Amino acid sequence: MNDASLPGERLASMDRCTRCSQCKFVPVPKSKAHMSACPSMDFVEFHAGSASGQLIMASGIAHGEFGYTPSMLETVSACTMCGACDTACKVNFAEIVEPLDGLYALRARMVADGQSPKRHREVMDKIAAFGNSQGLPRSDRANWASGLAFLPRADILVHVGSVLSYDTGKHDSLQAIVRTLQQAGLSLAYLGQDEGSCGMLAWDLGYHKQAKALAETFIRQVRQAGARTVVTFSSSAISVYRSIYPRMGIDLSGIRFLHFTEFLLALTAKGLVSLTPSGQYAGGTVAFHDTCKLGRLTEPYQEADRSVTKEMGGIFASRSPQALHFSRNGIYDAPRALLKHMGIEVEELERSREFSYCCGAQGGVKETLPAAAKMAARNRLAELQETESEILVSACGNCAHHLGKHVRAPATVIDLIDILAPNLAPCSSRETGVTATEGAC
Ligand code: SF4
Ligand code: SF4
Repeated sequence: MNDASLPGERLASMDRCTRCSQCKFVPVPKSKAHMSACPSMDFVEFHAGSASGQLIMASGIAHGEFGYTPSMLETVSACTMCGACDTACKVNFAEIVEPLDGLYALRARMVADGQSPKRHREVMDKIAAFGNSQGLPRSDRANWASGLAFLPRADILVHVGSVLSYDTGKHDSLQAIVRTLQQAGLSLAYLGQDEGSCGMLAWDLGYHKQAKALAETFIRQVRQAGARTVVTFSSSAISVYRSIYPRMGIDLSGIRFLHFTEFLLALTAKGLVSLTPSGQYAGGTVAFHDTCKLGRLTEPYQEADRSVTKEMGGIFASRSPQALHFSRNGIYDAPRALLKHMGIEVEELERSREFSYCCGAQGGVKETLPAAAKMAARNRLAELQETESEILVSACGNCAHHLGKHVRAPATVIDLIDILAPNLAPCSSRETGVTATEGAC
């Protein structure tokens, strides 16, 4: 794989786009107000902002029909790489177009051609120098873990991610959850200041070589720590582990990757930790924001099966829809189940699960086009007004932080870890008859 090769590989798929515009809308909208699937289309307000528009640009550049312009680069920068277009397109076209792969290819081509936007390059410089896109010092990365004892080698490696690592408002909740896991008897390793970027943002910005280098470094660290299970608090990380690392050809054998919601749910089922219906939210109802990265973009990577694609008088057919995932295999149920364990009901937003609407925080948009990121957040928060709930919960620190910046009282946005932390408790292994090692494995 190299940065310039992807457009060629994807060109035929890009050129199959029929300009039908289905990728702009959720497949079965419940209302006109919230029928949009595409935050960049909503911001640009022109076909160019949609996946189809970007595929036209990618194809035109790959065929040498036109070159880059500043407005084209700005339009591409408004795309959050949220994948809603891909899910919507697959409903009609299965995997014969695959818009998201086309968007990955377009950004990789921009990097290869030296056309990556200046702010994307600045983000990459910060990742290279500091291991995070915010440019915050490595020496502060592990501050959240002050007082916690980790092992240099353990079966389970805790990965936190840069957003929560540096968000001091989340340190108490992180500490409480990890301390509970240790009190339940789990031996945990943590990379501390050596934890770097998972590579998700680098990939989204089109810097695929750099993303692969970051991935290789991380997997080397996991093996050096002797870990067979990586538990991450980051939705970007679980997304890149499951949907992007496999594309890179990295040896992931013997390592499983879990989001903390999946891990806590499994520990609850095995009786190692308990969640009590208590606190201010118990007995109440909240709305839940499905993060793109945690949901549809954590679906395990499935390589397109082009060998079965046939042309029948101009009609293309790929493998049967039954063999496709349609983004339904992301992480949707674990956070909802944890809320239920705490006696909290979930009221679904109009656009939920694989059809969720991006909050605008991903794909470099927050860093590059804050106005587009803000508009997406406001669009998402407007859905809350259609529900009985004034509380929106997210299992992603990045989404919760971004949405929280733009929410208007009396509505509030809560990070799931802040609800879990006070309600999570270790169970005695004598009571359960299960050892921590058995529970973890
Ligand atoms: S990307 Fe898919 S859904 Fe969008 S216009 Fe093209 S064919 Fe239609
Ligand atoms: S990835 Fe998201 S923002 Fe980008 S074109 Fe697709 S739906 Fe629109």
